[in-house]
Amino acid sequence: MLVRGPLTLWLGERIEVVKEFELPGEGDLSCPNCLLTHSFINAHTHLPMAFLRGLVSEKNFWDWLREIQELEALMDDKDVEAGYYLGLWENLLAGNSTVYSMYRGYDLVRNTFGLELHIGPISFREAERDVSSLLEKFERRAPPGVVPTLFAHSLYTLPLERLREIAQILGERDIEFQIHTSETKEEVLEVKRRFGQYPVRVMEALGLITSKTMLVHAGWITKGELDIAARHGASLVHVPASNARLAIHGFFPWKEAEERGIRVLFGTDSQASNDGQSVLHDLRLALLFAKDRYWDAEPFGWRNVVGAFDRGGFALWKPNSFLTLHGKPLVNQFLYAPHLFKLRLLIKNGRLLYPRKTPPEVKKAKRRWIRFLERIGLL
Ligand SMILES: [Zn+2]
Repeated sequence: MLVRGPLTLWLGERIEVVKEFELPGEGDLSCPNCLLTHSFINAHTHLPMAFLRGLVSEKNFWDWLREIQELEALMDDKDVEAGYYLGLWENLLAGNSTVYSMYRGYDLVRNTFGLELHIGPISFREAERDVSSLLEKFERRAPPGVVPTLFAHSLYTLPLERLREIAQILGERDIEFQIHTSETKEEVLEVKRRFGQYPVRVMEALGLITSKTMLVHAGWITKGELDIAARHGASLVHVPASNARLAIHGFFPWKEAEERGIRVLFGTDSQASNDGQSVLHDLRLALLFAKDRYWDAEPFGWRNVVGAFDRGGFALWKPNSFLTLHGKPLVNQFLYAPHLFKLRLLIKNGRLLYPRKTPPEVKKAKRRWIRFLERIGLL
């Protein structure tokens, strides 16, 4: 597909202005003064919680969690399935082409609308025994676009036996694994009380830290734990909006992670604590928080957020008509005033994901969501 400009390209390590650019796929398009980037990876969310958007607000973490879990218990399989489709569609509209979603009912998804969706067995409390056979079963049936991935809620919610089972799979298989890590101060204290060590050290001892492990939140992680993550090639997932909204932020060690060569990814978390699914809008917060908290504006900018991009995808953004600058100034405005840009095109692996009509699954899911809200007495 030929995109006629002039265009600003921001593709990984370089920013340049070109007259036109050839994208994979058919057709041609004119988009003068637009910005072309790779599309985004939403490295952490819980898609079906789209149903719970805006329902519990202005609560501290533990009260929020209790109320959210009471509402989640009211969601049946059809609601969860519908929540996946609502969440996927919202991610697509935000310019995300790869999504990691930790939630039950992962085997209900039949269509990803062309997105790359990482889902799979999620261990939470006593649930999901025999993770190995659940994973094998899921791998045999996973629809196109789905990448089977292992998830565990956290160290403090799982019995040791389950953690060992997951570690055994990670030792035998080259599979991605995601776990909430050092999200709250209380969690770190609880893990220290139970195991006598900081969370990442416990995970390393159990065999849960590999080059495919993604440690989500990491706002209360120590430098010693970062050394462990670096040694194994594990990644951190920064979830700035959700952390701030629930007032559990701690301090995300972005600079320290970069100094150790640790890959930093970005996630939105669920709509129950964000409320959106825009990685772009979360990058703005990540950059602002980092400058503010380190008391240093210099080290954080467009070069530091390249871990947010999906190299297999492209997104074309149309700036608001009064933004006429090209090159780096346009990229700066994209990161710090993302509301002034509109998604014009989304492509993943040469396939056009947007623009397109709203899929029937999404329309049906919206009706189901309204019925859910009526059922719980909110409409
Ligand atoms: Zn989460």
